[in-house]
Amino acid sequence: MRLPQFNYTGPDTLEKALDLLAAHGQDAKILAGGTDLLVRMKKGLLAPKMLISLKALKDLSYIQQDKDAIRIGARTSLADIIASGPVQKEAAALSTACEKIGAATIQHFRGTLGGNILQDNRCFHYNQSAFHRSGRQACHKDGGKICYARDESDRCNSTCQSDGAVALMALDARLVLASKGHERTVAIADFYTTDGILPFAMEPTELLKEIIIPIQGAASAYQRLAYRSAIDYPIVCAGVLLKADTGKKDTIGEARIVVGAMARSPLFLAKESAELKGKSFTDTQAFQKAGNGAMNSASTFAVHNVGATLEYRCAMVAEMVVRALNEAAGSGKN
Ligand SMILES: Cc1cc2nc3c(=O)[nH]c(=O)nc-3n(C[C@H](O)[C@H](O)[C@H](O)COP(=O)(O)OP(=O)(O)OC[C@H]3O[C@@H](n4cnc5c(N)ncnc54)[C@H](O)[C@@H]3O)c2cc1C
Ligand code: SF4
Repeated sequence: MRLPQFNYTGPDTLEKALDLLAAHGQDAKILAGGTDLLVRMKKGLLAPKMLISLKALKDLSYIQQDKDAIRIGARTSLADIIASGPVQKEAAALSTACEKIGAATIQHFRGTLGGNILQDNRCFHYNQSAFHRSGRQACHKDGGKICYARDESDRCNSTCQSDGAVALMALDARLVLASKGHERTVAIADFYTTDGILPFAMEPTELLKEIIIPIQGAASAYQRLAYRSAIDYPIVCAGVLLKADTGKKDTIGEARIVVGAMARSPLFLAKESAELKGKSFTDTQAFQKAGNGAMNSASTFAVHNVGATLEYRCAMVAEMVVRALNEAAGSGKN
């Protein structure tokens, strides 16, 4: 598989990168580590006329901690995040999620957190070579009018398989998006469109600049299931956050449960999360109930398009949620 032809540019300041995006947004793509983008280009899934590389933008690689938040530059490597003391301490779910992404080669040499959040949704009917896809009718995501993953579906049901996005949503992270002369901050939960073809609420002229994780003095955990422990995307995963009630150390004051790899975007389960408020950190029955609820909710969105059977993935939602809740509750952070 060969890369299509493209122009390449490597701006050395953020301003130059934003100027380039303003001029070429629709025709350009940001190149961070390339471990998602270049694979898709090789498969003929997209052919941008210009790649704007972040390689020279070292200023976008940082992890800073202040009183209220951890700020991570979008170009920061997964390896730096895994090694970060503040992330391990204040955002354990993200640290674990980054450890699970791909393999050491992806984490150390190429993959970035920004690229992880912005990797395209996936589907095993679509993430195939151009030759494979040429032998059958095009699906919605390929410009056609059918979906192989769900009969008679009028839309694309491709799945968000980003490990990082699920952990960050559990941590209630915010994203800073920059464009020429403008900057805005959005909650990661509002960043997903639930559209399988255009999954992010982001303009082509915008660049993801920073990820902000609030420091809440809370415990978090991440669990995932994949075929192999490395070089495999999650087929179901869960990120959770548990915060103690003010003045009542053994009682949950706030919970956030997020399930991933089951829908077009990570699923924040508001009802199941709210039901944990007021429960004890040792109430394993409440955790099981939350896991079962998460399974029922997530099952309505999932389609058979990322591996394993749909029935197995749905059943494993409860298991991943319960494991993550038990891990967070037992982490000693509450
Ligand atoms: C074998 C293999 C296994 C993998 N396993 C996993 C896995 O288990 N879990 C997982 O989550 N991912 C996995 N991945 C996907 C990918 O490696 C990671 O998500 C990685 O973190 C992507 O980062 P990147 O910097 O390489 O992104 P890139 O490929 O450079 O970019 C991805 C997308 O984001 C856009 N983009 C990147 N940065 C910015 C920015 N700052 N602003 C605007 N747009 C931007 C690009 O234009 C592109 O569309 C795997 C990939 C491979 C090849
Ligand atoms: S979910 Fe359906 S439309 Fe979307 S990529 Fe898969 S087969 Fe194509």
